[in-house]
Amino acid sequence: MILGIEATAHTFGIGIVHEGRIIANVRDSYTTEQGGIIPQEAARHHESIAKAVYEEALHKACVHETEIEAIAFSQGPGLPPCLLVGLRFTKQLAKKLKIPVVPVNHCIAHLEIGRLTGARDPVMLYVSGANTQIIAYASGKFRVFGETLDMGIGNFLDSFARYADIGFPGGPKVAKLAAEARNKEVSYIELPYSIKGMDVSFSGMLTKLKQLLDKGYGLEELAFSTEETAFAMLVEAAERAMAHTGKEELLLGGGVACNTRLQEMARIMCQERGGKFFCPPPELLVDNGVMIAYLGEIMLGAGIKIAPDKLEELDIKPRQRTDEVEVVWRE
Ligand code: AMP
Ligand code: MG
Repeated sequence: MILGIEATAHTFGIGIVHEGRIIANVRDSYTTEQGGIIPQEAARHHESIAKAVYEEALHKACVHETEIEAIAFSQGPGLPPCLLVGLRFTKQLAKKLKIPVVPVNHCIAHLEIGRLTGARDPVMLYVSGANTQIIAYASGKFRVFGETLDMGIGNFLDSFARYADIGFPGGPKVAKLAAEARNKEVSYIELPYSIKGMDVSFSGMLTKLKQLLDKGYGLEELAFSTEETAFAMLVEAAERAMAHTGKEELLLGGGVACNTRLQEMARIMCQERGGKFFCPPPELLVDNGVMIAYLGEIMLGAGIKIAPDKLEELDIKPRQRTDEVEVVWRE
C-alpha cells in the first residue's frame, strides 16, 4: 500500500493506492471569496487540515498506518510554502513508520494517472490554474512540446471572471454562461487567437475581453467566445504535438479539463485524425493524492526510494522542470 501526498498549491490531498488500484482519495482545498491564492495562507490551510485528511484517508481505506509500505510526495513544481507543508508531513510520517519516501513530479503524475483510463503513451494537454503545457514522453524524458508564454489557462479564466465580477473559481462560471449562450445560439465575437508553434498566450485575449466588458458587451457571448477561442488554441497545439511526435493518444489533465466543451473539441480532433481520446474522471483531473501514490508505486517498483534515515537531504523542488526528471520506469 502506497500513500501519496499532494500539496503543490491550493489542494492538500492524500491518496492510497495498492497495485494500481485506488483505495482512498481525500482532498481539502483552500478557497477564497475574493482574489487569488495567497501562498502563505494556503500553506496554513494545509497545515491545519493535514492530520484530519490523513486520518480520513486511512479510515476510508480501512487500513492501519502500519500497512503503508512507502510515502510518495509531490516534490514540485509548486508554491514553496505549500510544498514545505507536504515535505514536513512526509518526513515526520516516514520517520515514525520507518518507511521509505518516493519524490514525485506533480506534472508527470497528472500524465501517468492517465494509465488508469487506458492511455499508454499519450500526448497530454495539461490545463490547470497555473500550468498549461503539452507534455509527451520522448527519448527517455517527459518533454514539454508546448506551453503558455504568459499565464495558465485556468488563471486566465479566473482573471476574466474576477474582472466580470462573477466569482472564483471562474472556469465553471464561464462554462455555465457559455453553455447558456450556446442554447441561445448567440454569435461569436472575434478574440485574439494567439499561438506560436506549439506555444500559446492568453494575455492579449484577457486585455481584449476587459475592453469589451467595459464597452458593455454581453457576458454570455463573451464567455462563449472565450471558450471557443482559448480551447481551439489548446487543441490546435495538442494536435500539432501529436503530428510531430507521431503519437496517437491524447490525454487531458488538470482542473480545466473538467470542461465539457474542451473535452468535446479534443475528442473531435482525435476522431478526425484517427487518434484515441482519454480523459480521467474529475476527481483525478484536479490535484489529488492518488496520482502521486499511483506514480510513486510505479517508481518504487523501479527502485526509486529514499530510506527513512536518509531524509535530511530531501528537499522540495518548486521550479522543477518536467524534463529534469530521470525516467527509469518507462522503456
Ligand atoms: P487545478 O489548478 O488543476 O486544480 O485547476 C483549477 C482551475 O480549473 C481553476 O482555474 C478553475 O477555474 C478551472 N476549472 C475548474 N472547472 C472548470 C470547468 N468546468 N471549466 C473551465 N475551467 C474549470
Ligand atoms: Mg495540477
